[in-house]
Amino acid sequence: MRWSSVTRSSAPSFAFVALSLVSAVVAQGPTDEASEAAIKDPYQECAGYNYDPVSSQSSKFPTNWQVAQIVPGDQEATDKWNSIQSLVPANIQVKGTQPASLMGDFGGFNYDPSDPDCWWTNTKCSTPKHQGIPADIISMPEPDTLGYGFDDGPNCSHNAFYDFLQEKNQKATMYYIGSNVQNQPLQAQRAVTDGHEICVHTWSHHYLTALTSEQVFAEFWYTLKMIKLATGVTPTCFRPPFGDVDDRVRAIANALGLVNIVWKYDSNDWRADYDGYTEAQVDQNYQDFINTANGGAFTTEGAIMLTHELNNFTMSEAMKFYSQLQGAFKHIVPVGVGYNRTQPYLETNYGLPSFEQYIGGQTTVSGSAVQPQSSSSSASLSSSSQSLSTASQTSSATSGSATPSTTGSSLSSDPGSKSNGAASAMSPRFGALLAAGAFVGMLVFSA
Ligand SMILES: [Zn+2]
Repeated sequence: MRWSSVTRSSAPSFAFVALSLVSAVVAQGPTDEASEAAIKDPYQECAGYNYDPVSSQSSKFPTNWQVAQIVPGDQEATDKWNSIQSLVPANIQVKGTQPASLMGDFGGFNYDPSDPDCWWTNTKCSTPKHQGIPADIISMPEPDTLGYGFDDGPNCSHNAFYDFLQEKNQKATMYYIGSNVQNQPLQAQRAVTDGHEICVHTWSHHYLTALTSEQVFAEFWYTLKMIKLATGVTPTCFRPPFGDVDDRVRAIANALGLVNIVWKYDSNDWRADYDGYTEAQVDQNYQDFINTANGGAFTTEGAIMLTHELNNFTMSEAMKFYSQLQGAFKHIVPVGVGYNRTQPYLETNYGLPSFEQYIGGQTTVSGSAVQPQSSSSSASLSSSSQSLSTASQTSSATSGSATPSTTGSSLSSDPGSKSNGAASAMSPRFGALLAAGAFVGMLVFSA
């Protein structure tokens, strides 16, 4: 039963009355991007709503926050996977043993110290050792330029942060988690409406090198499909959770037309208040980065720092340090803008400005409006290895169970929630680790 099918005029059994009350609450929720973006109360933002174009398709997607698998009967996904398997290096092992490895515990996995797989998590290797795979993006090509972006969204209560960015006419790269997009499709639409760039941050936010190749494919595939369903656009970039990629993961991403964007600098904003890490240390990380910039470190090439849309604190930090970043860098741009990726999506009716346009004040280009409801009619991911092309994208693989991802009790009162879908769908501890990072041996991973 859909909420909208419930009316309050029927016979009042207790259960029915209860359901009707829920219905009444849900009915007051946002119905489109504009009404969602207008909400100022973070509790209300996270109250949940039903968005039928997404929720009606949930059977076509993997379970929210679970490691993605190809959905049984999904012929398009199966065909695509079959068409790219030969591009995946056969000599790279799945790392570690699930389930521990899913959270970055690679205990017992013996890895050749010469790093034959270019495993970023182990060595920060960013130049693939296998043929035919492009290098990771770790910095910006233009000097004194910050590649600005945020992981783990869309957060259900991000309006204050997005309002802030709007006031500053500042665009950013948003690395969205498929499960969050499914839960908060209207928040995801706001990113496109506001002129931000959306990249894939996987379906369930696990360590990708711990997944089988088919799981890696499904993590990308269904996130692409969900973003398409919710926002009308299909990204061509991704960021691996925890930066965890090797050449096997890179090859699968590349076959799906996804450019890998990682980072050189880490705010560690996600770590605040966990394992003794303090908010003051995050402040210091921002300050150190700003000092590094002011010291002239980026006069030949720009920088990318890892920051998050994860919770109230991480978004507040971004706002708190924005003006200092502006002072330290000549330009703050979405990563795609810095690379002149003026067509960041498969859909040709949406563009980003070039770097020159952006720094000249044109932060959006015309024709940027998104039409999610008509999403079934545009480009599709398919066959050829380097391009996600092919016709007939019959809204096939896309859906969403637009269930509320957060409860009011878990929110703080300022912009942003203390927990997102990850945290609410699991234990807070697990969610925090999943959305943020985990400690393994002597290595510190971040998201
Ligand atoms: Zn992340």
